[in-house]
Amino acid sequence: MDDSGRGRVNVFVRIRPPLPREEGEPSCLTVDEGETNITLQMQDGDAVERVLAGGSFQNSPLEKKFAFDGCFDGESEQKEVFVAVGKPVLRDVISGYNGCILAYGQTGAGKTHSLLNAGGRSPQEAGLLPRTIAALFVHIGSDTQNVYNVEVGTFQLYNEQVDDLLAEAGEGTRGRNLNVVNSGEVQGLTWLPCKTPEELLQAFQRGRNNIVYAETKMNKASSRSHAVFQIKVIKRARATENKGAAVKMKATVGKLTVVDLAGSERVKRSGVSGQQLKEAANINTSLLAFGNVVQALADKKKFIPFRDSKLTRILQDSIGGNSKTSLLVCTSPAAESCSETSSTLEFASRAM
Ligand code: ADP
Ligand code: MG
Repeated sequence: MDDSGRGRVNVFVRIRPPLPREEGEPSCLTVDEGETNITLQMQDGDAVERVLAGGSFQNSPLEKKFAFDGCFDGESEQKEVFVAVGKPVLRDVISGYNGCILAYGQTGAGKTHSLLNAGGRSPQEAGLLPRTIAALFVHIGSDTQNVYNVEVGTFQLYNEQVDDLLAEAGEGTRGRNLNVVNSGEVQGLTWLPCKTPEELLQAFQRGRNNIVYAETKMNKASSRSHAVFQIKVIKRARATENKGAAVKMKATVGKLTVVDLAGSERVKRSGVSGQQLKEAANINTSLLAFGNVVQALADKKKFIPFRDSKLTRILQDSIGGNSKTSLLVCTSPAAESCSETSSTLEFASRAM
């Protein structure tokens, strides 16, 4: 295996703590010693379904074990998640590679909290994206050899349509339904130069406020869209005074893509219909295509089916090849979500 962790997907699982209404309810997941294995405790009914579907009834049929690059239980802190999941990707982006951090899981499993929580009055609650931004500027501020330009862009992918989240409001259709070009770039996307972490965080906050939410039975603010945040890091060697003439240096460009994926729950469970069913079907197109890409990479296939959806076309320059990818798979601890959690973990283990 490649020690750099490039070209493959590094898969992490995070179990969120029980919500107040779940307090005292049984949990169906345990992180084993060593923090790379996780055990799913199934309920009788789910095990019966599994045996019906041809699964084995021998050797603890009520238990399933999975192995990942890292597992975080309900007591894990945002900081440790950043150190394992975000930091290695940021390091690569600063060195001029592309990289990608994605959160996958059913609605309510903790994707947005893990990625985007701004922290605010509780900085220890700040998620991967604000931590990555702060760490990037710490690096920039302490690098005496190089100068940096940082630019941000953010868009949502909703019904296979790309909408710029930083396009100014009130300008008609500007920034709506943008094309994805073959390189994976979104054509006409707003790129804002940022000099400080505050500017960068504000841009993302502005983008977040423009995300479209639809209501489902499962979660009032459930997002049926994929939210994508990109940061370009352009690095040049500091011009040295060379007998009066500044030496022209070539720039390296690294691009970080952070994706808060739409909920992975199966449609029947949320009880959606009509327009929402159409949305769910489209989301599944992108999520399904993403799953196929991730599996093709895990299987070291020659052909990676990037062209099958908007999402995978956008990710084609940031997953596989020289890129480092962290997939943070979020799950609920609740036994009542056991069957959904089981399919989430099956997906995650196929990505390994
Ligand atoms: P998703 O984005 O996957 O739908 P959220 O991030 O919105 O899920 O999380 C659902 C709820 O659980 C939110 O109220 C969130 O604050 C809470 N939550 C999720 N993960 C954690 C965590 N690690 N610690 C504390 N609260 C969490
Ligand atoms: Mg969310």
